[in-house]
Formats: sequence, C-alpha cells, structure tokens
Amino acid sequence: MGQIGSKIIKVDKDELIKKLNKALADEWLAYYQYWIGAKVVTGIMREAVVVELIEHATDELRHAGMLVDRIMQLGGDPLLEPKDWYDETNCGYEVPSDYQVKKILEQNIEGERCAIKVYSDLLDFVQGKDSVTEEIVREILHDEVEHEDDLEALEEDMK
Ligand code: FE
Ligand code: FE
Ligand code: MG
Repeated sequence: MGQIGSKIIKVDKDELIKKLNKALADEWLAYYQYWIGAKVVTGIMREAVVVELIEHATDELRHAGMLVDRIMQLGGDPLLEPKDWYDETNCGYEVPSDYQVKKILEQNIEGERCAIKVYSDLLDFVQGKDSVTEEIVREILHDEVEHEDDLEALEEDMK
C-alpha cells in the first residue's frame, strides 16, 4: 500500500487483514442466506419479506466489496476460495430448509445479531488506530443494526 498510508496504521496489519477476511466470509454467507431465502420463503406477508430480504442481500454484497477493497489497500489477499468461507466465518450459515416466513426471519435475525457483535469487536480493534478501516466498519455496523431492527419489525407485524 502507499508509503504514508501504510504508516498511519497503529494496529498489527496481518491481524487486521485476517479479521477483515473473516468478516468477508460472513458477508458472503449472509448474502447467500438472504438471497436464497428470498427465493424459497413462503407464508404470510411473503411479498414484504421478500423485498426486505433482497434489500439486505444487496447490502451484504456491498459490504463484501468494501472489505475486499480495504484488504487490498492494506496489501493483503482477499479470500479467493468459496470453500474457505466455512472455515473463516464467525457467524456461520443457517440453512433455510424450513421455508416458513417465521423461521427465515428468525435465522436472519440471529445472523444480524452475530454480525453486530463482530463489527462492534472490530470497531474496538481499530478505533483510534486506523481511521480508514474505522470508517468502513462504522458504516457496515450501522447497516447491520438497521437490518436487525427491520427484521424484528417484520416479525412484530406478523403477530
Ligand atoms: Fe453485512
Ligand atoms: Fe446484515
Ligand atoms: Mg432493511
């Protein structure tokens, strides 16, 4: 990375790249869980739920892109093998084998809660030590908090 750009980072760069790659694995799995969930979901309020799931899938894919850009800026290699996603993920993947709206929402809410925890920890790691990554993490964390809230609101509407 750039001569000066690399000097303003006060965290272990390899450790940071490792953490960003683990988050990248989470984002891809979250993306697919939402995307395939939107295809298979069935039950009450299906249409409203599909709209939200697709919106969130799009956000997760954008997050993945933000992470890769930063990993490369730091001089790291982004995960290149989809099979590594399962080894590196913090939050795992919940197979949406039960297509009911209630279950799909439940699984995705769990995922968002895990994502909030991951980015909150990542923020603690970079706060005041790498402002560029800090800004990226804050933006993603903001989205994940909104995702959890949106899904909880849908769950509430179903009652
Ligand atoms: Fe995300
Ligand atoms: Fe999310
Ligand atoms: Mg939303």
